[in-house]
Amino acid sequence: MSRQRSRSVKYYCCPVCGKNSTDRIAIEKHYRERHPVKIDEVIYCNICGAGWHVNAYGDRGARERAAACYQSHIDNGDMDETAGRAFFLSGGSFGYVNVKKGGLQDGKKEKEPGKRE
Ligand SMILES: [Zn+2]
Ligand SMILES: [Zn+2]
Repeated sequence: MSRQRSRSVKYYCCPVCGKNSTDRIAIEKHYRERHPVKIDEVIYCNICGAGWHVNAYGDRGARERAAACYQSHIDNGDMDETAGRAFFLSGGSFGYVNVKKGGLQDGKKEKEPGKRE
């Protein structure tokens, strides 16, 4: 009497469409061949970091919108302010910091008042 009461069978499932098989190699092959990596590209405004998906707007449409956004900051005159905010929020990926003459040094003095003790 050595009959087993249960047995386990492993099925390997495709994470995309759910197709499954006991043949792991077959599923891995299916996954690679049937579901190529999707590409999405985002065009960002270099001042504020707003982005437009190429899949949604097309390559040209996304670039035009980003360029229009960029131009709008120049037209509005909020370029430096917006870029400065975007720079810090994005950790330096977008925008820039405009260092004015004397401005950085003045800022430094204000931030380190406690070192005089
Ligand atoms: Zn699949
Ligand atoms: Zn912008």
